[in-house]
Amino acid sequence: MFEKAIQNYLKGKGYNKINLKAVLFDMDGVLFDSMKNHAKAWNKAMAIYGMNLSEEEAYMHEGRTGASTINIVCMRERGCNASEEEIKKIYQTKSDIFNSLPKAEAMPGAYTLLRNIKDSGLQPVLVTGSGQLSLIDNLNHHFPGIFQKEFMVTAFDVKYGKPNPEPYLMGLKKARINPNEAVVVENAPLGVKAGVAAGIFTIAVNTGPLPDSALLDEGANILFNSMQELSDNWNCFRNEIDK
Ligand code: MG
Repeated sequence: MFEKAIQNYLKGKGYNKINLKAVLFDMDGVLFDSMKNHAKAWNKAMAIYGMNLSEEEAYMHEGRTGASTINIVCMRERGCNASEEEIKKIYQTKSDIFNSLPKAEAMPGAYTLLRNIKDSGLQPVLVTGSGQLSLIDNLNHHFPGIFQKEFMVTAFDVKYGKPNPEPYLMGLKKARINPNEAVVVENAPLGVKAGVAAGIFTIAVNTGPLPDSALLDEGANILFNSMQELSDNWNCFRNEIDK
């Protein structure tokens, strides 16, 4: 099952081999079971400003920067972009609601996988569109000893954000590696699109309510139904890469 996916990737990109040095992880919906809270917070925040953004739609926007999501909804609901000031206000409201909800748990299987990857000498890199100020503390609390600040791409580093390949290209740059020296782990259609556009082998984990096709249609090279399933299969996948 892995062999074919790897061969298809190599053939499509013209590489001989995946020379794995780093694993680029998205955060929400991959490392944390946080997407339900994000969807709820987006829905409630937009309603406060008189705009409609359903929880289902929030999953389709996952990965975008807050500003980009706000502008897309403003354009549809009001016919114009939001001002810088209003973007700040809406995003603050959304963050406040998000922070008032029960704290999201670490995704089952995530720490075992991260530990395995780190202990085998690979570099874990975080690539998130999130701009939460508590992000680094939260990561260190749940996944001690895994992530280093110099190997993180957050909302503060990027101009465009996903689905643009920019965040993943920046992740490669921070790890000083080429696209065929990494794999991406993503749960969102737009995140998969960004990983694929960056030329990286992209693993989808479908941890939310969207159909698998939403991830496969964006070019995911392989799909798992949970982080636990990915963790359970990681060594097998790694062996296939190293063949
Ligand atoms: Mg995500």
